[in-house]
Amino acid sequence: MVTFQKILITGGAGFIGSNFIPFFLQKNSTTQLVNLDNLTYAGDLSNLKEIENNSNYTFVKGDICDRKLIEKLFDKYQFDGVIHFAAESHVDNSISNPGAFINTNITGTFNLIDVAKSHWMSAPFQLIEGKENNRFHHISTDEVYGTLGETGLFTEQTPYAPNSPYSASKASSDFIVRSYYHTYGMNVVTTNCSNNYGPKQHDEKLIPTIIRKAISGESIPVYGDGQNIRDWLYVLDHCKGIDFVYNKGKKGFTYNIGGKNERNNLYIVNTICSILDDIIPNKSSYKNQITFVKDRPGHDFRYAIDASKIENELSWKADENFESGIRKTIDWYLDKYNN
Ligand code: NAD
Repeated sequence: MVTFQKILITGGAGFIGSNFIPFFLQKNSTTQLVNLDNLTYAGDLSNLKEIENNSNYTFVKGDICDRKLIEKLFDKYQFDGVIHFAAESHVDNSISNPGAFINTNITGTFNLIDVAKSHWMSAPFQLIEGKENNRFHHISTDEVYGTLGETGLFTEQTPYAPNSPYSASKASSDFIVRSYYHTYGMNVVTTNCSNNYGPKQHDEKLIPTIIRKAISGESIPVYGDGQNIRDWLYVLDHCKGIDFVYNKGKKGFTYNIGGKNERNNLYIVNTICSILDDIIPNKSSYKNQITFVKDRPGHDFRYAIDASKIENELSWKADENFESGIRKTIDWYLDKYNN
């Protein structure tokens, strides 16, 4: 007899979740996914059109801060696992409206893990029979480590030093999840990933903004002098990493995920403009639209991940580098913006 695993996905209508769900359903035909998302401005169900009629997929509109609802869903579906993506995720918004980040990222994470604990455990370090393998996977960011200078990499041992309300709220949620492992013996894993890019990202983020502004003839804004460095990872590589950790990661462990693709913002914008110059040439290069704007307050200089733990222990590695992934990404956005 085939046993169906039931997994609660939170925030599955956002950028990474909506890439993860179709990928995971295709790979695991005996898994039922329930996607809980309250469809903030960042959630878009049209990103899940390809699987909306899949019988192993259910969408529930609701807030992770609504404890009664979470209880009801656990009672109804008896989840075997949770993969928790839901978050307020845009650093700029966390500067103008930090309260929403505290609610969703901290209180919401607490609600989820606490309800999971009460359904899976009878006492600290005592799992209810049949729930021994149930797992809570918390999706987090490398931004919890703060900023790097010209050299060095974030490892799983790097002390936390978050600098924005966004990264501080994610760091808090990481600590809550950690404490449920140490205090109650819950089966948790956390992944801290670098900057993602790829299809289905919200228009507000850097790469969609560059493409959209370029093809609409507007100025392309770049913060400060464009020297800030991020370690860019193609979103499907992140999804593959999550799948590895959810299925094979060690209980209580954290794993950094990154593609060894450090690029500064000026390189990103120039590369995208060059590719657009090639495929949809304009009278003059798109690079002429680049405009430097006032830097974001507290803008971290450099993030870079040492991913050797997930590579060596779980045999994950990124399939794309920035140059291959950005071509696929541009094709996807040109399709979106031209339709
Ligand atoms: P996103 O902003 O695109 O999507 C977030 C989703 O969560 C949206 O669908 C939104 O509607 C939903 N949501 C927000 N608040 C909610 C609430 N209170 N209840 C229910 N649903 C709610 O974010 P993303 O880029 O897909 O990021 C997903 C996760 O990955 C986040 O936890 C983020 O911190 C983490 N992460 C993102 C990146 C990145 O580069 N985007 C990198 C590393 C880690």
